Amino acid sequence: MQDSYILALDQGTTSSRSILFDQQGAIVSIAQKEFKQHYPQPGWVEHDAHEIWETQLGTMFEVIAKGRIQPKQIAAIGITNQRETTVIWDKESGEPIAPAIVWQDRRTAATCDTLRAAGHAPMLQEKTGLILDAYFSATKIKWLLDHTPGAREKAAKGQLAFGTMDCWLIWKLSNGKVHATDVTNASRTMLYNIHTLQWDQELLTLFDIPHSLLPMVVPSSGVIGDCQVIPGHTIPIGGVAGDQQAALFGQLCIDPGMVKNTYGTGCFMLMNTGEKAISSTNNLLTTIAWQLDGKTEYALEGSVFIGGAVVQWLRDQLKVIHSAPDIEKLASSVPDSQGVYMVPAFAGLGAPYWNAYARGTIFGLTRGSNQAHIARAALDSIAYQSADLLSAMQSDARIPIQELRVDGGATVNDLLMQFQSDLLDCKVVRPVITETTALGAAYLAGLAVGYWTSKEQLRSLWKSNRLFTPQIDAAKRQELTNGWKRAVKASIAWATNQ
Ligand code: ADP
Repeated sequence: MQDSYILALDQGTTSSRSILFDQQGAIVSIAQKEFKQHYPQPGWVEHDAHEIWETQLGTMFEVIAKGRIQPKQIAAIGITNQRETTVIWDKESGEPIAPAIVWQDRRTAATCDTLRAAGHAPMLQEKTGLILDAYFSATKIKWLLDHTPGAREKAAKGQLAFGTMDCWLIWKLSNGKVHATDVTNASRTMLYNIHTLQWDQELLTLFDIPHSLLPMVVPSSGVIGDCQVIPGHTIPIGGVAGDQQAALFGQLCIDPGMVKNTYGTGCFMLMNTGEKAISSTNNLLTTIAWQLDGKTEYALEGSVFIGGAVVQWLRDQLKVIHSAPDIEKLASSVPDSQGVYMVPAFAGLGAPYWNAYARGTIFGLTRGSNQAHIARAALDSIAYQSADLLSAMQSDARIPIQELRVDGGATVNDLLMQFQSDLLDCKVVRPVITETTALGAAYLAGLAVGYWTSKEQLRSLWKSNRLFTPQIDAAKRQELTNGWKRAVKASIAWATNQ
């Protein structure tokens, strides 16, 4: 019998990628195509849904060619995607009615302020697990309906379809036969009740969105339809999950209390909380982790706005390093930051502080401080912010954690990973395969078609590349953490003039 593979489509914010995985979960080939970011006004970010589809399709053909396989060797397709980005299209023509509004787009911030002032935030958090914000799809859908000529009339006649990028890809892959999204993506729209697992009529009324626009909601693992765009062969679409949820699954964080952190431009931390949706008192989001084998599992999620981006700042603005990896050598040239703390609140602070006004600050400078101390403080700040997220999660979930599983571009930095373990007083584990987002989508799809038989089988595929264990004592940890807390407090005080 010929070998078979799983094709993962990773539709990201700046590029579309396709990755072929084999039965060991190893990468066979990768293809990637960037697409254009459109910034029509300050605070606006748009994508061309056609371009997203074309780049995605292009990488599908490319990855098959690079992998030297036949389409019939693909057992299933899994999809993972940038979350919340919103497109509306005409069901008859298949044409998007306007550019897609990207998750980062702030054009609906004022709408969110109005809803907050009217007291809707607690109800929204209770039903959707989300903090009222322009990131989520609901206000973007409303904006498109309100600002696109003729859209409301067409919507009233049931002619329009809304989708996040997974949904748009499923529609295109199935030649317009399937209008569906998975529960993880639905849970980021701010229209989906994560407890009843239904589109919520009260929310639809609040945002003035007709039900007819919405896709069918399906489990994260299960055959949704067939890909019909690869000539000569139809391939089942077997799994879908938003990028962070897919990464949680790809890291095999499948038991309650298991946590992953992705260190990219920002950091995204998710903790599996099992079948319980835990509501946060620390500004974390409650989200659906996946729906699999008839069970819905949940996660707590928090993000650091400036993670690896602080390294880019040292490179591009301060110019103390030439490339991102240089930071490790520079920061390692001193034993510690010598009391220097950097709070990289360039764009405010995320959970647990949630302060839009805080700004970047460096504290504790002395005559002896040099660029190495600042580099060290910058790296440390990524770990401190992540530690804040983890302690918020532990306090909300009251689940002890055994280890932190890590992925993303900045995890190649051993100094950062070691400091993270020191601060958390727990194991930090970097897997061999760090393409966890695509891998998670592949796993979900593979499980649906019997390519892999169980989560237990997958567990044996996860392999550690390096384990970091705590090397400092409790007193040192406390001293470092106290310094960080004071620095954050001071940076918020400065911004709010208190
Ligand atoms: P994204 O998916 O958000 O684009 P990646 O996972 O590709 O991010 O990671 C890129 C980020 O990692 C950049 O912000 C970069 O500054 C940071 N980075 C890359 N290499 C290192 C390194 N050796 N040490 C610390 N940070 C790094």
